[in-house]
Amino acid sequence: MHEPTIVQEVWTYRCATCLHVWDVTYEAWHAGDGHGGDVVHYRRAGQRCVNPWTELSCTNCDGFAVTPLPSPRTVRPAPPPPAEHRPTQPSLSRLARVHAY
Ligand SMILES: [Zn+2]
Repeated sequence: MHEPTIVQEVWTYRCATCLHVWDVTYEAWHAGDGHGGDVVHYRRAGQRCVNPWTELSCTNCDGFAVTPLPSPRTVRPAPPPPAEHRPTQPSLSRLARVHAY
């Protein structure tokens, strides 16, 4: 059993009743199922929740004619880049000096 990979996804929804459009950010937890497959469960604000495409209701009119727009945006791909690829503090301050003049 390996550690789950956590990816932040932003899902955009549209209500067909009032045309309200809004975004919801989920944490997608990808983990192995023990048989070579991949299982995903979703969390919101640290709490496990239903899949982003089920039990949809409009945050504006409480209607149920809500559809998720295709292709959720991944805002924080995992795993994070290795430490040696991040800008170091000296190079950041050097850049700041260049832009200061
Ligand atoms: Zn609505």
